[in-house]
Amino acid sequence: MILKLKLSNIVYSYRGYLFFLTLTRRSIYVVGLCMLLTLLSACEQNDKPVNLTIAKNEVKQYYESGKFDEELNTVIEEAKKRFDKVAFKENSIVIFDVDETALNNYELAEKMGFGYVYDMNKEWNAEMKAPAIPQVKELYAFLLSKGAKIIFLTGRNYYEYEVTYQNLVNEGYTVFDTLITQIGEETKMKAKDFKSNKRVWLTKNGYEIIGTVGDQWTDLEGEFHGIQIKIPNYLYMIED
Ligand SMILES: [Mg+2]
Repeated sequence: MILKLKLSNIVYSYRGYLFFLTLTRRSIYVVGLCMLLTLLSACEQNDKPVNLTIAKNEVKQYYESGKFDEELNTVIEEAKKRFDKVAFKENSIVIFDVDETALNNYELAEKMGFGYVYDMNKEWNAEMKAPAIPQVKELYAFLLSKGAKIIFLTGRNYYEYEVTYQNLVNEGYTVFDTLITQIGEETKMKAKDFKSNKRVWLTKNGYEIIGTVGDQWTDLEGEFHGIQIKIPNYLYMIED
């Protein structure tokens, strides 16, 4: 009798185990299926773009809440540490981009609804309204104190040379070797190629490029870039 009970217990236990196992397997299938559906649903949601008004408001908030400045402060502190390790020579230069690097066009960007209106841009440049970006100006002053020479290299057209030069000087960038703009056929070049070619030309003419500072990767990639300092820019992107 005792033996029978024990056997039946074993049988019941065994059946219970099978039942549990079946349940567990089913649970695994159900959980797996739920995860797959969730993943598919997430993928489907990710296929849809962010509403443009929401995206613009997020960018505006980032700039105007001080978060952009916080990010930029960190970038500049890191940049100073990297340049501080360099021994600058007579021919050592650091190349700075102009728009959204040395000068700040946020006010214009906002007026243009965070898009691009050619006439408004040209009028803004002509009126030399862009203020300096203080953190970048601080890096510029730091580099000058270290003995670096500064060259400004911009994708702006040559007919804007004078106003660009004057805007830089008015905003405190008073010491630099030269300002290079695009001219003639260069205006048809891709930004990266134009800037890289100019750096090759500068190097062949005896300059040693220690670093490049710009808000676009097209300012920093290519030949002879040295230390690359990427200034954050959430307003627009120049892809090539
Ligand atoms: Mg720029």
